[in-house]
Amino acid sequence: MNTPVNLLDFDVDGLVAWFAGLGEKPFRARQVMRWMHHEGCDDFDAMTDVAKSLRARLKDIAVIRPPVPVRDSVSTDGTRKWLLDVGNANAVETVFIPETSRGTLCVSSQAGCALDCAFCSTGKQGFNRNLSAAEIIGQLWLANKLLGAARETAADLEAGDKDNGRIISNVVMMGMGEPLANFDNVVTALRLMLDDHAYGLSRRRVTVSTSGIVPAMDRLRDECPVALAVSLHASNDALRDRLVPINQKYPLRELMAACQRYLERAPRDFVTFEYVMLDGVNDSDAHAHELVALVRDVPCKFNLIPFNPFPNSGFLRSGAERIRRFAGILIDAGIVTTTRKTRGDDVDAACGQLAGQVQDKTRRTMVRLKQSTEIR
Ligand code: SAH
Ligand code: SF4
Repeated sequence: MNTPVNLLDFDVDGLVAWFAGLGEKPFRARQVMRWMHHEGCDDFDAMTDVAKSLRARLKDIAVIRPPVPVRDSVSTDGTRKWLLDVGNANAVETVFIPETSRGTLCVSSQAGCALDCAFCSTGKQGFNRNLSAAEIIGQLWLANKLLGAARETAADLEAGDKDNGRIISNVVMMGMGEPLANFDNVVTALRLMLDDHAYGLSRRRVTVSTSGIVPAMDRLRDECPVALAVSLHASNDALRDRLVPINQKYPLRELMAACQRYLERAPRDFVTFEYVMLDGVNDSDAHAHELVALVRDVPCKFNLIPFNPFPNSGFLRSGAERIRRFAGILIDAGIVTTTRKTRGDDVDAACGQLAGQVQDKTRRTMVRLKQSTEIR
């Protein structure tokens, strides 16, 4: 028998096309789409308004299969973390961060990462593989279901209310991996996040975080503009070449120009720059002044991330006072600047504490992943 098609791999257009191949009308595809994503349904038999013959056919050739959660931890502050098995001893993590006015889901895009940023343990572990669209959107599918939010999504969308205090109101592609290095699958998942037949989130509430793959930033702007966060982490090329090696290919001047181009079509009128605070490396007053000059022509906000150390990282976290001073210089220059606070650290879900256990193919060791998950 042929391997069944996982319907979570399709965005709406993709499913319409696949249904057309079966001789089925577009409205049938949209119907199934809503069952899957609004209702969190993975059982064709439960899709009561879909013709019985079609349900039987789908059961033969298709599945609705999200990744399998192998651990589910809840922090005392409500932060919830799922470890998802994605096969071949690879696992990725998804984190839900509840706040008073919103709930943010932090989603992974790759098992591992090839970009090897100096302070990132995902990078240290190397690249395992891209997640499929089903594995990416499957994280939202699962969280929506496990948080009991699927019904609510359906009700809000029916009422035409996209922004009404949903349990998961925001999604950030800030888990494991570089989303723009897995462009097609990430964009398919983003389209589902935005589509009213699926999750119906507004573009402003979906954020892609990138280390700065310039051509892919342009493609994202053209194909699926959502809110953008850029991992800057350095104020000049010499330092960024070392901390974020992709800078050697796309240096700061090109990155700033790409940010400006992005803003022409972005749903928000600023870029968020993420900046990890590394003691004695990128956190001096001089660095802060250099940053102010660097971003002069890019409407932006800064999000300072206190470094979360991991064994043999070779870096230390900047002190609280240093971070305050650094932030003060940016704020005095008129740049909105926030500092991430730690959430969920009792379940290792805080910024830089994600601990997806992933078998490293080259070293065959279990590696602790350090990821930033706390979003401002
Ligand atoms: N690959 C993408 C998105 C995932 S990483 C990117 O680099 O933007 C999400 C954020 O966590 C990035 O800004 C990343 O630089 C930061 N980060 C990685 N390791 C960290 C650590 N140990 N402590 C604090 N932040 C870290
Ligand atoms: Fe990859 Fe982002 Fe980590 Fe850099 S910071 S290695 S791009 S996941």
